[in-house]
Amino acid sequence: MNLQFNTHLADSYKSNVQKARVLSEDWIAKNMFCPICGNPTLSHYKANKPVADFYCNHCHSDYELKSKRNKYGTLGTRITDGAYETMINRISSFNNPNFFFLSYNADSVINVLLIPNHFFTTDIIEQRKPLSQTARRAGWIGCNINIASIPDSGKIFIVRNGVEIDKQYVLENYKKVKSLQTKNLDNRGWLMDILTCIDEIQSNEFSLRQVYEFVDILKQKHPTNNNIEAKIRQQLQFLRDRNFIEFTERGKYRKL
Ligand SMILES: [Zn+2]
Repeated sequence: MNLQFNTHLADSYKSNVQKARVLSEDWIAKNMFCPICGNPTLSHYKANKPVADFYCNHCHSDYELKSKRNKYGTLGTRITDGAYETMINRISSFNNPNFFFLSYNADSVINVLLIPNHFFTTDIIEQRKPLSQTARRAGWIGCNINIASIPDSGKIFIVRNGVEIDKQYVLENYKKVKSLQTKNLDNRGWLMDILTCIDEIQSNEFSLRQVYEFVDILKQKHPTNNNIEAKIRQQLQFLRDRNFIEFTERGKYRKL
């Protein structure tokens, strides 16, 4: 992987948005493997294809690329995306692609993060303020993807702080979370919530009682559910069946 951008490509573009697009897409096309199946390259969809930006011609996974530039190439907590409603519809109909979040400084890639599509819930999509009446697209509502609210296991780094992560490690990380796919949005939401609670518990071993401490927070997110404890136990069972956590003794678990 060569972390340098081919900056000459941007010379003929005036707008910063276009420059960013040209450089980051060129970088992915030349350097990125498929983090889902390990295929050495990804293919570029023709311009303006609404589904995604890249695809793998081996496992047929789709990828959308979002990039951001700043002085230190930091990723930050939010990534700006397109129309709010479109994004919510895509998540709700299970046809959102996997995402690459790429951040860079003047001329080189500092972070590349894969968020698998099954980690997207409507909770992580934030509505931006409608564009003002004087704007060309007055009233249009965009969205931000709140990376900070995605569980740690759904953030698979490929490049982190300017350092390339070993490809085998990336593939193993994906394999570990692949089993967490669900075909029900409500289940997905609960699963992400419980994963987030487990992330908050610092130690590797934890008890059911520790997860119950999040009941009040979960109640605020799911006000119509009157049996949060049962839901917690159900999700822990799901995670246990998928070898994400193991049961050590009554009411005790270990992260795997
Ligand atoms: Zn693939």
